[in-house]
Amino acid sequence: MNIKALIARFVTILNALMMAAAFIANPFISLFWPALPSFEPTPEAPPAAVEKPRSLLGYKISYAGQETPDKTAAQTLAETLNAIIGTNGFSAEQSGAAQGANEFRLALAADFGADEYLIEDAGDGVIKITGGQRGIIYGVYRFLEQYFDCRWYTHDFRVFPANPAASMVSEVKSERYAPQLEFRETDWISPRDVTYSLANGLNGNVYRQIPAIQGGNFGYNGGMAHTIINSLMKPENFFAAHPEWYAYRESGRARVPKQLCLTNPQVLAQMKLEVGALVSGGNGQPIISVTQDDNQDYCQCAECKRVDAEEGSHAGTMLRFVNEIAREFPGVLIDTFAYQYTRTPPKITRPLPNVIVRLCSIECCFAHALDDPKCPENAAFAKDIEVWSSICNRLYIWDYTTDYAHYNCYFPDFAVLQANMQFFIRNNVKGIYEEGDYTASECNSEFAELRAYLLARLMWNPDMDYNAEMNGFLKAYYGEGWQYLREFIDFTSANAGTKWPHKKMGIFIKPNDKDLLNLKINGIRYADELWEKAIALAGDEMAGAETRERRVLRSQLSWRYWKGCNMAAEFWRLQPAEDWQAANEQLYNDMVDFGITRFREGWNPEGTYLLKQPKNWWGTPADWHG
Ligand SMILES: [Zn+2]
Ligand SMILES: [Zn+2]
Repeated sequence: MNIKALIARFVTILNALMMAAAFIANPFISLFWPALPSFEPTPEAPPAAVEKPRSLLGYKISYAGQETPDKTAAQTLAETLNAIIGTNGFSAEQSGAAQGANEFRLALAADFGADEYLIEDAGDGVIKITGGQRGIIYGVYRFLEQYFDCRWYTHDFRVFPANPAASMVSEVKSERYAPQLEFRETDWISPRDVTYSLANGLNGNVYRQIPAIQGGNFGYNGGMAHTIINSLMKPENFFAAHPEWYAYRESGRARVPKQLCLTNPQVLAQMKLEVGALVSGGNGQPIISVTQDDNQDYCQCAECKRVDAEEGSHAGTMLRFVNEIAREFPGVLIDTFAYQYTRTPPKITRPLPNVIVRLCSIECCFAHALDDPKCPENAAFAKDIEVWSSICNRLYIWDYTTDYAHYNCYFPDFAVLQANMQFFIRNNVKGIYEEGDYTASECNSEFAELRAYLLARLMWNPDMDYNAEMNGFLKAYYGEGWQYLREFIDFTSANAGTKWPHKKMGIFIKPNDKDLLNLKINGIRYADELWEKAIALAGDEMAGAETRERRVLRSQLSWRYWKGCNMAAEFWRLQPAEDWQAANEQLYNDMVDFGITRFREGWNPEGTYLLKQPKNWWGTPADWHG
């Protein structure tokens, strides 16, 4: 008998055993995990007829500046109102003086914060929008949202409800607003687009450059992370001549070019030169990052160890160094990390007023809110943030919002996003980088655009109506079956981090770790039903650049990936092998069809991090990489 025939016989016997096991197991499954009642969506009432007392048809739109952001604000207002009324009735006009009644007047104000705006009814049919360099533009977007229900959900999917009479639902109420966060940044896909970023309140310069006429950025001069040896004191320039400038490691009893020796005065002198070069020749942005490299190889020379011990934290050694740079450049914000080995606040040293400390939540659990005292990782983080908040007047956060080891797996953190943002704000945080899947365009199989939208808007206003914003997005983007997706999100969030004993739902969690999703067979069936209904109701007409059905199918990949890694439902092993293998192959092919090429975070020449077809379909999706 040849090898092929042997394998075929083996598979036949295996299948027979699996079927027998399933026959025995099935009655127990329905006994222990009875079917959950099907989800019934709440009937949606047709929109009530509302009074729209004021038409803006015929209004002039004037701005005062030349090539300044008030021009962008006026043009944005005119273009969007034209889209709403369906003709070219509105235009932006440059004018030094007021035009009279029935007019929008857009003006920059020097005494406003850069992101601050004021919308007011000035009487005589005049609506004024006043603001700082970006605030004037943010004010226009808020006005269009509030009075005309416009939304910029993704870079290529905007919702402008038709309103031919340009009638407003309510009278203009005065509103002056400035976000608490001076720095607001996230990645994913759409935040790379300038219009989307302005519409949703982003202002960093990591993923987009906002031109001056559109308000400019508030961001970094030079690199934004791990700069200390990657862009500032590069080992290729100094290590050969000055190995003593770099970290001493006890393990190898040698200097390694992976961090700096922060107590060496020559290192400080050289760093002042490096930062000075950025101040005089960089991009003019307010922040310069002096941040440790992404490893644990801090210096263990006698002096560094002495300061570490005195401060009770490596952060003390780091801050003494960074404070000296900040003293040298009082007009610059010098940014450093409280990350991994520098997360614990120091006992003695306090950051100078122009030092930014960016506290990173990399160790935390994202099934539970950061202020949940019952989650051990988060309780430790909450203690640290309280101390940092009390000693630092410019505390920033680097937060995480996906599974970096399995970008294509569903990550159930939607129930904590707003609570965490409000927690940061309560701790007087002034800037946030919400890191997500920054390569999402290569592996968009989850809820990338929904996350980006919610995160951007929470940074702008942490107290927004989170449910309404999520529901509005789901309905517009995924179609009529949106309530089933909302139920999927709520149901899975309620079943995240429920395993006992609980460790954490960390950002490198394995899909089959029950701390990610603790679902039983009936829960998995329930979730499957939700997706089926959402797909059936999505609709196949184009909505922006694609159909809603395709969006639901794409996001469903992340759920199928989770099921595949957990050998659940169609991937269950108690069925003929060809069936669950076919499910694997189908999932892989669908991922390829949706343009997915990336598996996880990281880069290397061998392509270990890329999606790769396996030799056979016996494993799980967790094996499908180079
Ligand atoms: Zn040292
Ligand atoms: Zn937890």
